[in-house]
Amino acid sequence: MKIAIVGAGVSGCNLYFNLKEKYENITIFEKSRGTGGRLSTKYINFKEETKFIDHGAPFLMPHTDELKDFCLYLSSENILKNRYDTFLPKNGINKICSFLIEKEDLVTQTRITKASFENKKWILEDENQNKYDDFDILLLTIPAIQILEMDIKLEEEIKSQLQEVKYDSVFTLILHSNDEIKLNENILYENEIVKDVIDNSKKYYYKDFSSYVIHSSSEFANQNNNKSKEEIFEIFKENINDKSLNEISVFKTVPHLWKYGFAKTSLDIPYYFDENCKLGICGDYFHLNNVEGSYLSSSILSDKLM
Ligand SMILES: Cc1cc2nc3c(=O)[nH]c(=O)nc-3n(C[C@H](O)[C@H](O)[C@H](O)COP(=O)(O)OP(=O)(O)OC[C@H]3O[C@@H](n4cnc5c(N)ncnc54)[C@H](O)[C@@H]3O)c2cc1C
Repeated sequence: MKIAIVGAGVSGCNLYFNLKEKYENITIFEKSRGTGGRLSTKYINFKEETKFIDHGAPFLMPHTDELKDFCLYLSSENILKNRYDTFLPKNGINKICSFLIEKEDLVTQTRITKASFENKKWILEDENQNKYDDFDILLLTIPAIQILEMDIKLEEEIKSQLQEVKYDSVFTLILHSNDEIKLNENILYENEIVKDVIDNSKKYYYKDFSSYVIHSSSEFANQNNNKSKEEIFEIFKENINDKSLNEISVFKTVPHLWKYGFAKTSLDIPYYFDENCKLGICGDYFHLNNVEGSYLSSSILSDKLM
């Protein structure tokens, strides 16, 4: 039995981790350079040490026993650390994903654009027309809108459900400095287009390295999500007050756009599986629209396949 998983975020990596107990031959395809998806970490080299800046979800706060048990397990493996009801990453939140999979089964920088089911087997194709064939089961863990962008024949019922899922974009600005600088977060919050300011260094107890993550309002990001991240950064600077510009000017800055940052709609099924062609779909938009939703949706789909 040969399985293809598309997407190496928490949904795809959790599926892999669970299914690997039963199935030997699993390949996970990811369009980016590594695992994590929206559990993403930037690595900064500083004084021969690596510093981590999480610029998607910053930590996990479980509300169900299932996710709590998983977080406790990851803590016992030194991936997370427990502080009250929150689980913080020890060395980057994206380690949750890389820890769950075996590197040799991961194919990175490969965007799957087409999938067809012929003679009871799935054939995948990437954007460079490379083909990957002979899969018995195909599991898609990518945002709903990206499934609809793929060339794949879907049952009308699931197709119309996926079309219901709308997304908010987020423009994210990563700030870092090798000096000890305190950002005045209140000044940033004076701007309507700023939604969140996160002190990343506090989370890691960094003393000599300052780092913050600023997330824009969805209104601002949605209006500009057809532009490059550099262009959006220029518009961002034009739309914040002078005091805020002053605050951020002392940091090195890295802009990032989450085009499909947050799903705005949850489907009322926990996952999708078509027995005829062995096509499965799971992700945060099946439940809760957050990491917990991704974890639960992918766990229930893997239970079905075990
Ligand atoms: C800024 C931000 C802050 C957040 N904060 C929180 C928070 O505090 N708490 C919380 O619970 N949740 C938070 N979330 C949401 C949470 O991060 C997501 O719900 C969760 O990580 C989704 O995981 P996933 O695996 O389902 O999807 P993703 O993480 O999106 O993974 C999908 C993967 O598929 C890859 N991919 C896409 N298309 C293709 C293709 N065609 N071929 C190959 N690979 C492809 C993508 O590169 C990605 O790696 C936040 C999200 C953002 C953007």
